[in-house]
Amino acid sequence: MKEYLTNVEEVLQEQKSNEEGLSTQEAEKRLQQYGANKLKEGKKVSVFQRFLGELANPMIIILIVAAVISGITSVLEGEPFAEAIIIMIVVIINAVLGVVQESKAEKAIEALQEIAAATSNVIRDGKQASIRSEELVPGDIVMLEAGDAVPADARIIESASMKIEEAALTGESVPVNKICKVLNLDGAKDVPLGDRKNMCYMGSTVVYGRGRAVVTATGMDTEMGKIADALSNAKDDETPLQIKLNQLSKVLSILVLIICVVIFAVSLIRAQVTGTGINGEFALDTFMIAVSLAVAAIPEGLAAVVTIVLSMGVTKMSAKNAVIRKLTAVETLGCTQIICSDKTGTLTQNKMTVVHHSGSDEKRLAMAMALCSDANLDDENNAVGEPTEAALVNDAYKLGLPKSELMEEYPRVGEAPFDSMRKMMSTIHRTSDGEIIQFTKGAPDEVLKRCTKFWSDGQEKPLDDKTREEIISQNREMAGQALRVLCGAQRSWDSIPDNQEPGNLEEELCYLGLSGMIDPVRPEVQDAVKECREAGIRPIMITGDHKDTAVAIAEQLGIIEDASQAITGAQLDEISDEDFFTEIENYSVYARVQPEHKVRIVKGWKKKGMIVAMTGDGVNDAPSIKSADIGVGMGITGTDVTKNVADMVLADDNFATIVSAVEEGRRIYDNIRKAIQFLLASNMAEVLAVFFATLMGFQILKPVHLLWINLITDAFPALALGMERAESDIMKREPRNSRDGIFAGGMGFDIGFQGAIVTILTLGSYFIGHYIESGVWEITDSADGMTMAFLTLSMVEIFHSFNMRSRRGSIFTMNYHNKWLWGAMLLSFVLTTGVIEIPALAKAFSFQPIDWNEYLIAMGLAIAIIPIMEITKAIQRKLKK
Ligand code: ATP
Repeated sequence: MKEYLTNVEEVLQEQKSNEEGLSTQEAEKRLQQYGANKLKEGKKVSVFQRFLGELANPMIIILIVAAVISGITSVLEGEPFAEAIIIMIVVIINAVLGVVQESKAEKAIEALQEIAAATSNVIRDGKQASIRSEELVPGDIVMLEAGDAVPADARIIESASMKIEEAALTGESVPVNKICKVLNLDGAKDVPLGDRKNMCYMGSTVVYGRGRAVVTATGMDTEMGKIADALSNAKDDETPLQIKLNQLSKVLSILVLIICVVIFAVSLIRAQVTGTGINGEFALDTFMIAVSLAVAAIPEGLAAVVTIVLSMGVTKMSAKNAVIRKLTAVETLGCTQIICSDKTGTLTQNKMTVVHHSGSDEKRLAMAMALCSDANLDDENNAVGEPTEAALVNDAYKLGLPKSELMEEYPRVGEAPFDSMRKMMSTIHRTSDGEIIQFTKGAPDEVLKRCTKFWSDGQEKPLDDKTREEIISQNREMAGQALRVLCGAQRSWDSIPDNQEPGNLEEELCYLGLSGMIDPVRPEVQDAVKECREAGIRPIMITGDHKDTAVAIAEQLGIIEDASQAITGAQLDEISDEDFFTEIENYSVYARVQPEHKVRIVKGWKKKGMIVAMTGDGVNDAPSIKSADIGVGMGITGTDVTKNVADMVLADDNFATIVSAVEEGRRIYDNIRKAIQFLLASNMAEVLAVFFATLMGFQILKPVHLLWINLITDAFPALALGMERAESDIMKREPRNSRDGIFAGGMGFDIGFQGAIVTILTLGSYFIGHYIESGVWEITDSADGMTMAFLTLSMVEIFHSFNMRSRRGSIFTMNYHNKWLWGAMLLSFVLTTGVIEIPALAKAFSFQPIDWNEYLIAMGLAIAIIPIMEITKAIQRKLKK
């Protein structure tokens, strides 16, 4: 059936539906029949494919080759090939862990998408209800308004100046005016999609007005479903840090190659000098050294640790109402310097109550306001709808004018919907005597400009300048008390106007009065603003409301000290870009702004090199949200358009949530850096130890040993560091500079220094072991030495992870225990001792059973890292002062 060629009644009949909507039961039945209203997702990568993906990594391939070569030589020499098996086991464990963590991270992101899933307003069982768009079925009646994404294909049954942008389907970006009339073919065979003005399609967005439509197709049956056979899975971008880490791995690989060449040259010279000759054994030894170095230098566990910490952080943030939509936002949040926030609902509670009227006829004003609203009373006579309008409907009810009765008496016959550019809306009604009357409500400054008359003693009188001045000063007085003020007006018509464009309706109005409503500030925002200041972040209020209202509220919240820090959109228009660049720092409140001003403010601050977060809820806020570094959408009041482009969505619309997300962003970045420093210092120590040992002509550790440390015993403390709580001064420091690299703040030095200390301890342990075994100080291979070096190196890492809880602070002043770290310590300790002390394992790892003496010495050397680092940090703190 071509619904656009059929009238509304027939379409409803065909869909077995009516204006009252479907019953819940029927909807459930149809959901079974038609399936969920969503596009098919692209094929998921199978677990096995993922596993192969983990193995297809140059590092892992080298290891597999090493295992094979080691295995073959063992067989040729008639030795047990334990080493080959251990390498393979570690490689497999690593790949399995990789698959598990990747799926976990993916699940976390999927769960977030669930939270942020689109909802639709429908009529079910005769009542308006909000359901998940996935549950829509053919026959459902959906309510659409500006900012909504059209959730399915549907036939329009009511359109109040509704305009829909269908670029995704037709490529045409000019919005289409929607109507409910039947289209005719005019001799053509069919009407092309772009001309079907009485239909709306999934994938398009309502940009103006409002309307209702009956769903005709869902899911893959929609036009969108026909185009996009399968929605490719949105792949999450890598964060800047992950990109930098990948680059680092490449640099490290090149470094390894260079070191290998040096070692090869040295070995070659040694072979010539000692006359051992260059044979197969020589080649094998050199190859194994190269493998050792590669294993030593590359932080195999790092990428996994970073991904896990990021995805756990994201989950934690969503528990605190900040739903991250783009992983990159987590890092950027920590650098945020400016937070631009809407006033209504974000800084205030968006719970409005009318507390003040002015004008000659309170009841008429209240009636006009209630009729010119889309809010309605529910069964308990509480108004439901947009908070401003709900307040007005409640106000009328209190004055004995219930909306339902008003609507019966004055049915609506036309309208010009609200939009935040005009800052007003109008509705047209038929009175019981057949007269036509229009009511307009909106921002007083805008409405008053269009008034030529005023209501006095029950009649319209010409509006003189003196009265106009009086009204303006009443408005200012109310606004100065932090009230949100709306102006009501009326206009009489002889018949329903044909042209219902706002420009035609909103002229020659008759002023009725002003309604002032309070919208209390959110109590937690005051503290959040203070926290921002201490953290070097500047909060900025941007609002469509009157300047005096904005100033009064901003002062209450501590955003500004006085009105000189506030500016209106109109004043902003007078300022050139150059002047704005120099003056931007003077302003923290922008009032009576239009959406395009928001873009200008974001760009202004970005030009100053600042990292800017910007909130937005309305249809026209998408550009400013996109241009901000962190675009913040509103979960409750936000439109689909803004949520879809946002980097983060606030489930509770609360400013304080942004601040806590910034704190969380700082914590996550701090912790990732701690884990990076910890792992890289360990790699540094391994490379240095292997390098010096090779130069001196002995083998300190085998590739399996290094692999074991990098992938098994180091991974647990690194993850535990990722779960550290925030350090106490985290919101007392300036924001991190977004241009800082991984090694900023002296981390490069720290890694080198800590690596060197660990190398000295490990080499020391080797020589002591060698001496205890042989009774002489000499530089040759030693099984005891190797065992002790392994023990020291593994354990030093575990103790050092405690040092890394704070990069500069003493660990004895930390005010809580990281239980994960203790757990990691225990686990690593058991595993390390296990491979040394359990004979079968020890043999496989080529370890020598060491006696208590040696065990304690190796441990002692490992523990020494704590006092060494405490002293170093104390010196670093002194130097900084
Ligand atoms: P914020 O930008 O902080 O969310 P806001 O709600 O004031 O604040 P807009 O929604 O852009 O911003 O509204 C701009 C102005 O339009 C308001 O200050 C008010 O004067 C007027 N206004 C808001 N809602 C309505 C409405 N439903 N009907 C008529 N006028 C309205």
